[in-house]
Amino acid sequence: MDSIFMKIIRREIPATIEYEDDEVIAIKDINPVAPVHILIIPKKFIPTVNDASEADAALLGKMILTAKKIAAEKGIAEDGYRLVMNVGKDGGQTVFHIHLHLIGGKKLAFETA
Ligand code: 5GP
Repeated sequence: MDSIFMKIIRREIPATIEYEDDEVIAIKDINPVAPVHILIIPKKFIPTVNDASEADAALLGKMILTAKKIAAEKGIAEDGYRLVMNVGKDGGQTVFHIHLHLIGGKKLAFETA
């Protein structure tokens, strides 16, 4: 299976890479909603959270800890930020390769929709 994020991981499509290791890549969102908007993406292709299994538990945790590290590097850890994973069409997911949004750098309104 493939996704636009797999193409970015393979360097077939350009992106601004903020962090990368063997398991995850973090890129600037192409359409940022806040001064800091970074996507933390596993290199393993998992379409949605619904497709994740117990075997992915460490990888999912790694995504959160990667976001935490980047937030500190960006200087937004103390003021706070938001971590979001959209799931499926009603959850607003548009790229079907799981990713964690790290959003911050301004006071965020509480939004449910
Ligand atoms: P979703 O709606 O699936 O939770 O989030 C997908 C995110 O990926 C969106 O915020 C969108 O702006 C971003 N995005 C989609 N295509 C690309 C791309 O080609 N490059 C980058 N850097 N971000 C993308």
